[in-house]
Amino acid sequence: MKFYSTNRKSALVNFEQAVMKGLADDGGLFMPEIIPVFYKEFFSHLENLSFQELAFSISKKFVEDEIGEDKLEKIILETINFPAPVVHLIENISVLELFHGPTLAFKDFGARFMAKTMEFFNSKENKELNILVATSGDTGSAVANGFYGVEGINVFILYPRGKVSYIQEKQLTTLDKNITALEIDGTFDDCQRLVKAAFVDKQLTSQLRLSSANSINFARLLPQTFYYFEAFKQLQNNNENLIFSVPSGNLGNLTAGLIAMKMGLPITKFVAAINSNSVFSEYISTGKYSPRKSITTLSNAMDVGDPSNFSRIKDLYSNNLEEIQNNIYSDSTSDEETLNVIKDLYNKHKYIFDPHGAVGFNSLNNYLNKNNFTDYSAVILETAHPAKFLDVVETTINIKIQMPERLAACMKKEKKSAALSNEYSELKKFLLNSI
Ligand SMILES: *Cc1c(COP(=O)(O)O)cnc(C)c1O
Repeated sequence: MKFYSTNRKSALVNFEQAVMKGLADDGGLFMPEIIPVFYKEFFSHLENLSFQELAFSISKKFVEDEIGEDKLEKIILETINFPAPVVHLIENISVLELFHGPTLAFKDFGARFMAKTMEFFNSKENKELNILVATSGDTGSAVANGFYGVEGINVFILYPRGKVSYIQEKQLTTLDKNITALEIDGTFDDCQRLVKAAFVDKQLTSQLRLSSANSINFARLLPQTFYYFEAFKQLQNNNENLIFSVPSGNLGNLTAGLIAMKMGLPITKFVAAINSNSVFSEYISTGKYSPRKSITTLSNAMDVGDPSNFSRIKDLYSNNLEEIQNNIYSDSTSDEETLNVIKDLYNKHKYIFDPHGAVGFNSLNNYLNKNNFTDYSAVILETAHPAKFLDVVETTINIKIQMPERLAACMKKEKKSAALSNEYSELKKFLLNSI
């Protein structure tokens, strides 16, 4: 498979180059030249495939023979090694629980697959690879965990000081070995800007092999398509309308869903559920895109003012707004509404949402209220475990939440990080000194 840049000013690359570069030379994002399509028979026999077999069939179409079948199978067995169960919520609405991985958020899927894929390609080189990643919360821990102890790869995680939760910070800063946490005096957008500046700094990249690990990397996006197929399989959907509600920030998860749909998965509509950082929902309703500084909310992994995958979505639809609007509904949910959903769903149905999933529920509910479907099936992607947002969730519903063992373990460890300002020169100095 060949990949082009959304800016269309650099040459086509293969899967390996797309993964190892992360971002194209012209600053664009990589997109597959063709979206491979599964035919109807594939979908009518899905129940015969395990989640891992599904993942293999999908990834094979993009990876082709750049990774041998045995090796690709091994990567999948090692990374897609926890379930993505669909749990019935109410009426025709279910929840796709994506938090059963090691860091309790859906980003484990992408980060683990990417880490092992990069390890495979990097094993042919004899120079260390340095991964720079900006995180608004969950990316960092998933990436750190995915790369932890991987030979020949160093990881630097930039996170905004005071803007991630206590638990998220613990998850980011308590690994050692090849993982370094950088605490930036600024916002998530500053962190993203610093990472981008490093990539275009010729002087730096001539000395260090750099790569990214944000949702801009195609190796993160690809495994996020797997669970849309897996959800469809579990639902055994016979309804006319299949709707996925996706709590969204950088729009990576949504983009993966759109790709799954273009691969033939019969999805009717995506609900892009966002918090008060409403840039994308404004675009969907008005066609105007006005990026701006992000604001802090309870669903902080979605506090994004200029979503990085926006260019991929426009590209998927050749910038045709009407078609984008046909496939995507979007609206914005306040913190107050988020808390009301958490309270309501627990009190009435004993389901505990985290703040991100609650935003997903609220937007879906709004969408369903505007349409009178009689025949539909809707799935909310629950992107994180409620225990990751313990303070908010516990005070909202007044119960003690059981912390999963894998989270409790890292809470006992000591924080280690380096504090930097939001000036690029400081980051550059740090990187050059530490390697
Ligand atoms: C990252 C994240 C999101 C947003 O996902 P995008 O792919 O950036 O849109 C939503 N919920 C949680 C819990 C996350 O960690």
